[in-house]
Amino acid sequence: MNVDYLIVGCGLAGISFAEVLFQNNKSFVVINDNSQNSTKIAGGLYNPVVLKRFTEAWQATRQVKLMYDFYRKVEEKLDCKLFNEDVPVIRKFFSIEEQNNWFIAADKKNLSNFLSTTIISKPYQFINSEFGFGKVNHSGFVDTALLQNEYSKFLMENNLLINETFDYSKLQLEENGCNYKQIRAKKVVFAEGFGMNKNPFFNYLPLDGTKGELLVIKAPKLEIDAIINASVFILPLGNDLFKVGATYNWSDKTDLPTFEGKSELITKLKELISCDFEVVDHLAGIRPTVNDRRPLLGRHPKFSNLFVLNGLGTRGVMLGPDMAYQLYDFIENDTELEREININRYVSRYVS
Ligand SMILES: Cc1cc2nc3c(=O)[nH]c(=O)nc-3n(C[C@H](O)[C@H](O)[C@H](O)COP(=O)(O)OP(=O)(O)OC[C@H]3O[C@@H](n4cnc5c(N)ncnc54)[C@H](O)[C@@H]3O)c2cc1C
Repeated sequence: MNVDYLIVGCGLAGISFAEVLFQNNKSFVVINDNSQNSTKIAGGLYNPVVLKRFTEAWQATRQVKLMYDFYRKVEEKLDCKLFNEDVPVIRKFFSIEEQNNWFIAADKKNLSNFLSTTIISKPYQFINSEFGFGKVNHSGFVDTALLQNEYSKFLMENNLLINETFDYSKLQLEENGCNYKQIRAKKVVFAEGFGMNKNPFFNYLPLDGTKGELLVIKAPKLEIDAIINASVFILPLGNDLFKVGATYNWSDKTDLPTFEGKSELITKLKELISCDFEVVDHLAGIRPTVNDRRPLLGRHPKFSNLFVLNGLGTRGVMLGPDMAYQLYDFIENDTELEREININRYVSRYVS
């Protein structure tokens, strides 16, 4: 099989790059296994505001613009609903001071488009909210598990997906391309999420990973039509089911659900809601986070046909499409990658 690109990984990063290749009529094949599950279990929220500090998330204005068009095209192609813009994020206020800070932030040029200035007062029977909520415009969620399932199905149907673990020792590098088993590809893009740490070509990069746990609960009395953001988020899934998350753990690098993670989420949830609920699922995964909180994009320092698309961290839904377009333009159109995202910033760590 002769292709322009071989992509390793079919999470948000790999899917985003595959989609950009489709849009540009490039041929490719994807290799994926189930060793990582960040995309599979993510909350899938997109939200252009850092709700702890009421500041714009990094380059959010640009990412939001790109994202809408991107996911709509994917929805159309897969013929399923992935993009839920009708379920916005609403931030619970814990004090009058927070309300004031919200209004001060909403006055700023870069945030006025994102922060609604109408306070939502006590709309939900079983959620304690003395000071009300602020709505984030241009927020919502993408069903990332469905996206991964449906996109993989689409790739399989078109013979573009191989379900196996990529064996790095079988990759042969030549001047004008690479050979991997029966595949001849001009270029390889590695998008393995936290699995990149096993990649001998790129594991010099500081992908430290942050474990996250989530619960799925059933709460028939909890009627909410928005994503509640407080000490945890509550995302309505329909049929009385809700996703509740997420924890942040920087030392445990396994993707196993833990008793501590579950207890933390239940404790915070009980402070937020006052109706009964039952835990029906408990999920865990590793976010591909980087020390400097910026993605990892670019060309290998020594092997010019090898590229990486990683480090989507806690915001893969918004970052995926933008980073995929930027990497594509860098490879095909010789555009520069900003220093902030270019793996060149870590070249001193590379030992050949
Ligand atoms: C608990 C939790 C909640 C989150 N909530 C949100 C949220 O609300 N909003 C948001 O935007 N982001 C969220 N994220 C982050 C988001 O999930 C990630 O940014 C994104 O999914 C990363 O995508 P990825 O493709 O880089 O990695 P992954 O999703 O990990 O995908 C990598 C793929 O590559 C495969 N792979 C790895 N190594 C190999 C190999 N050698 N051979 C073959 N295949 C391989 C893996 O099995 C996997 O399928 C959350 C993450 C977690 C853990």
